[in-house]
Amino acid sequence: MGHFRERLIRFMYGRYGIDQLYYALAVLCFTLMVINSFIHSIVLTIIMWAVLLLMIYRTFSKNIYRRRKENEKFMKVWNQVKKKTLFTIRRIKEIRSHRYHRCPGCKAMLRLPYKRGKHTVQCPRCGNEFKKHVII
Ligand SMILES: [Zn+2]
Repeated sequence: MGHFRERLIRFMYGRYGIDQLYYALAVLCFTLMVINSFIHSIVLTIIMWAVLLLMIYRTFSKNIYRRRKENEKFMKVWNQVKKKTLFTIRRIKEIRSHRYHRCPGCKAMLRLPYKRGKHTVQCPRCGNEFKKHVII
């Protein structure tokens, strides 16, 4: 077993290995597998295999620079999605007490206490005043 491990380490030397994109593809592959167990689609099977081959290709690739760039691009998109999702969750959680509005002047997101009716809002960042009519 120790011999095998040594050979594996030697084989993986200079190869890219596993990153966040690998895990994301693994989750995608698993999801496709679960969906496909219900609908048995040949197209889905092909996509699943393509994702699997891409995972294997990326792991053993020696072009580390390009794999890193791919992962960076993925992480950029992933962080945006994560940020928006967390913000939406926060908005839903605070729906009884607060409303979020964007300042027309500086585009800052403002968290305002929820009160029905017409209000004049002053942005704390740029000092811009604007009217807001909160209906619901
Ligand atoms: Zn502003």
